Order: sequence, then structure tokens, then C-alpha cells
Amino acid sequence: MKVIVTGGAGFIGSAVVRLLIGETDADVINVDKLTYAGNLASLASVAGNPRYRFVRADIGDKAAMADLFAAVQPDVVMHLAAESHVDRSIEGPAAFIETNIVGTYTLLEVARAHWSRLHGAARDSFRFHHISTDEVYGSLGDEGLFTETTPYAPTSPYSASKASSDHLVRAWHHTYGLPTVVTNCSNNYGPYHFPEKLIPLMILKGLEGKPLPVYGTGENVRDWLFVEDHARALWTVATRGRTGETYNIGGEAERRNIDVVGQICDLLDEMVPSAAPRRGLIAHVADRPGHDARYAMDITKIGRELGWRPRETFESGLRKTVAWYLENRPWWEDIRNGRYAGERLGLTPVA
Ligand code: NAD
Repeated sequence: MKVIVTGGAGFIGSAVVRLLIGETDADVINVDKLTYAGNLASLASVAGNPRYRFVRADIGDKAAMADLFAAVQPDVVMHLAAESHVDRSIEGPAAFIETNIVGTYTLLEVARAHWSRLHGAARDSFRFHHISTDEVYGSLGDEGLFTETTPYAPTSPYSASKASSDHLVRAWHHTYGLPTVVTNCSNNYGPYHFPEKLIPLMILKGLEGKPLPVYGTGENVRDWLFVEDHARALWTVATRGRTGETYNIGGEAERRNIDVVGQICDLLDEMVPSAAPRRGLIAHVADRPGHDARYAMDITKIGRELGWRPRETFESGLRKTVAWYLENRPWWEDIRNGRYAGERLGLTPVA
């Protein structure tokens, strides 16, 4: 099986690539533009594998995508390439529109042309899997869960751009018959997470004894999923999900941001003792504009239809994550120095 993974140098995409190379016999073609978020050092463990190939390209470049599909003849496309950081979308939404909406449209058109030329079993089994977020559903009150039929109500430029792309994918299924599946997932965490995101940011600042900035009162609730559990869920849906369907994915691990930061402090205190408990470093800062109060996922459907459940609890996954950052200093130090390890390893340099 030949699988094109877009955004495979990113946080979740690299976990998908490592899973496919490590635990399946699929050939993997990773298509990534290598924005600030793409880092080939996250793929050092698969770089020499004959089943793995990296192509540096923009999903919005239609000619490049058409050439790639013609050369690869993919059986499955797992589309993860995106601009993904909410704060960046507030500061500069243009790239979010370009990549998340126009880029997804471009990829859909190229996939449709490829699929229309297939026959028989190859045509029946082709899948276009679009990977999306729970943020498309907006914000919850204290009660309730997002299901696959919750109406869309995105609130940030990021979530609005992802909602747009989800609608395009469903429209390409209903209008043209393209065999698509969509997944919407809650917040991921785990190894190789870019240091600007909440959990790695707090781990690294806590290690350095610096203030731990928490938006507002820190009472916003997120559901957290260990990234390797997400990668497994994605492969399950890409290979066994019903076409035209959406599957919610989550960790059944709702936590207030302030409690997540507190747990990180306690783990760091245990693993790298410091003079004073790190909870004392927590500093409340002005809230993010339009900060959603609570996200939580109902994952009944993927469990019932496909038998997927997360393997990690939040506590076991967070422990593994803190340990990984302690053991993998070169990976995050290079990002913080603006010098990605991909360069050091002689892989494609990142501008
Ligand atoms: P990420 O920012 O870590 O990685 C995105 C990757 O896409 C990077 O490698 C980047 O170089 C690449 N990319 C960006 N623009 C591109 C373009 N125009 N052409 C080709 N490549 C491009 O993101 P992530 O956290 O790994 O998220 C992956 C996907 O999962 C996204 O679609 C995101 O919306 C979705 N998602 C993320 C989370 C989460 O908690 N991180 C949760 C649910 C869904």
C-alpha cells in the first residue's frame, strides 16, 4: 500500500509516519513544505528506511501535487498539512486561509483527478483522509460532549479555516463521490511537540525555573490525547473507516489548563528536584481573545465501529512526555536556537 502523508514533518504527521514505518508494511511518501513547524529531525529514526520518502513541496502547488500523485499512484492520502497554532492565526490569518482552505481544495482536486483514473479494486479502496480538530465545534458549557453531529461553530481564524476545509472535503464526497473520511480530534500532546505549545512550553520553562504563563484564570478545559494514540486512531480510520463518515477522536481526559500545568510542575519536581516547588512559578497572564471555555469529545462512534480506544491515560502519557523532553535535549535545543536538527543531520535545510 502506498500512503501519501501531508504534513509528515509536523508533530502529529511525524508520529503517523513513524507508526506506519514501524508497525505496518506501507510505503510512506511524506509531503511537507517545512514551515517553522516542520522538522525532519523528528523523522531521523525512519530516514534511511527504503519504504520512506520525503518530498519537500507545498500542498497549494497544484502542478507539484499532480506530478507527485502521477508518480506515486497513492492508495491512501492522509492529509495533515496545516497551519495549526491558534495564537499565530490571530496574529496573521493569511497563511491559514492559504494552506488550510486553498491548500486542501488543491489537494482535493488533484486527488479527484487521480481517483477518476482508477479502476476496479484500486478505485474502490482509494481513501482521502482529512485530519481535523475538535475546535470546529466551538465551545461547550460545563456539561455535554461534542458528537459527530454537533453543529459547527468555530471561533478563531484557525478553527474557521479548519471548519472550511472539513466542509470542502464532505462536499467533494457528496458532489463528486470522492471516497473521503474526516476525523476531528482533541488536543494532542507527547514527544516531538513544538516548544510553543502549552505542555512542552511549561516543561521547558519549568526546567529552567522561569515563570509559567497561564492564560487568564487557567480554568479553560481541554480534552487531551497522547499523540501515539492519535496516530493509531488515524491509521484505523484511514484503512477501516466508512467513506463519507466523520469520526471524533479524543482521550476522555478533560483537564483544566491550570491543573495540567500543576501536574507538569509535580512531575518535574519528582524527576529533576529543585530548591522550591515549581507550582510557585505559575504566573497568570492576559487571556487570549475569544478563548473557548471547554472542549470535550464523545468517542463512542470510533469505539463501537472500529474498536479504537486510547491506550494511555493522561497521567501515564504526561509522565512519558516529560521524560522524553528530559532525554531529548538536542531536539528542542536546536529549535530554540533556531537551528533545526535536520540541518545538523545533513537533511534538507530549513530556512
Ligand atoms: P504542526 O503544525 O506540528 O505540523 C504541520 C505540518 O504541516 C508541518 O510539518 C508544516 O511544515 C506542514 N505544512 C504547513 N503548511 C504546509 C503546506 N502549505 N504544504 C505542505 N506542508 C505544510 O501540526 P500538528 O499539530 O501536527 O497538526 C497536524 C494536523 O492535525 C493539522 O491539520 C491540525 O489541524 C490537526 N490537529 C491537530 C491537533 C493538535 O493538538 N496538535 C489536534 C487535532 C487536529
